[in-house]
Amino acid sequence: KMNTDLGQHVLKNPGVAQAIVDKADLKQSDIVLEVGPGSGNLTVRILERAKKCIAVELDPRMAAEVTKRVQGTPAGKRLDVLLGDVIKTDLPYFDVCISNTPYQISSPLTFKLLATTPAPRVCILMFQREFALRLFAKPGDKLYSRLSVNAQMWAKIDHIMKVGKNNFKPPPAVESSVIRMVPKNPRPNISYDEWDGLLRICFVRKNKMLRSNFLGTTSVLSLLEINYRTYCAQNDIPLEDGPAEANGTNGPDVLMEVENHNGDTWTGLDDHAEDEDLDDGGMDLDDEDDLPAFFKEESKLKLPKGANRKKKGKVHELVREKVRLVLEDKTQLADKRARMCDEGDFLKLLYLFNQEGIHFT
Ligand code: SAM
Repeated sequence: KMNTDLGQHVLKNPGVAQAIVDKADLKQSDIVLEVGPGSGNLTVRILERAKKCIAVELDPRMAAEVTKRVQGTPAGKRLDVLLGDVIKTDLPYFDVCISNTPYQISSPLTFKLLATTPAPRVCILMFQREFALRLFAKPGDKLYSRLSVNAQMWAKIDHIMKVGKNNFKPPPAVESSVIRMVPKNPRPNISYDEWDGLLRICFVRKNKMLRSNFLGTTSVLSLLEINYRTYCAQNDIPLEDGPAEANGTNGPDVLMEVENHNGDTWTGLDDHAEDEDLDDGGMDLDDEDDLPAFFKEESKLKLPKGANRKKKGKVHELVREKVRLVLEDKTQLADKRARMCDEGDFLKLLYLFNQEGIHFT
């Protein structure tokens, strides 16, 4: 009996299973990581081509089933089944990853693979169609999002094939796609946290002008102020403190956090009070609202509590001026919306913000 809560939709079409493994171009010397082997339809084909398969499976019954399937055969010795959640597992070395991914972990798995060092040579991953489309969406596409920019910063991603729901047992609710993800090697020499921190702000509302996302909400500026103070302290840069700092209410350690469906931290913007001034015409329609919860961008922007206090110090104003300078004078991206910005725009922003001492971590 399948457990669809665990995304247990077994591939029943052997042609598709073979095609997925073929797309990985395995070498006899390869160590392959398989995520969620289930009953082993991909596993047995991986073992025909590779030196070793490490299969991480959450469901003990499935782990037993795939183990039994190859037991006593020569391939049996070359399969290691690790029982547990792949996201929480310290992964051993692997050359290639192949996964018919349980949809609940699409996003964390993608970023876990992108953060793996040394980087795998290639990952062949089956996702729900919509998630796959988001991964390689380009500026201006409806599905272009933080996920798209982030994933494409660290990897080259191609669509390999569409897989209809009837190739699975039981059939899932939506269509699937197989993608190829080739991590860039060498890794781009930028900090993942800085890059992602910038994107979180830009994409809080991707249909708004960047000016509005950065300058139209005091909470974003307060977050950047806290980072700026840390940066100055670490680099012995003297700060002329204003009243907001002097009364000590600007506690960077107090954060409002809400748990989302993945147990990830999600913090929403709490003050749209100043939005009116700088709003660019009410284009607040977020097309992510149409999507099932697990496709939504998990914005982990952490904002300081009480960030919308009216009393702002000199440092706050200094940070505001630096942000304005970068957006308006140095990049002229203030009027551009995140959904239209490409990687070059975001890289330029990050570089120039950092030059001004503005950091996102
Ligand atoms: N690979 C098999 C196939 O293609 O026929 C089964 C794929 S099925 C979509 C997903 C598998 O991942 C299930 O066996 C499920 O138990 C397992 N799984 C779900 N969540 C997991 C997690 N967090 N870590 C590891 N395996 C997981």
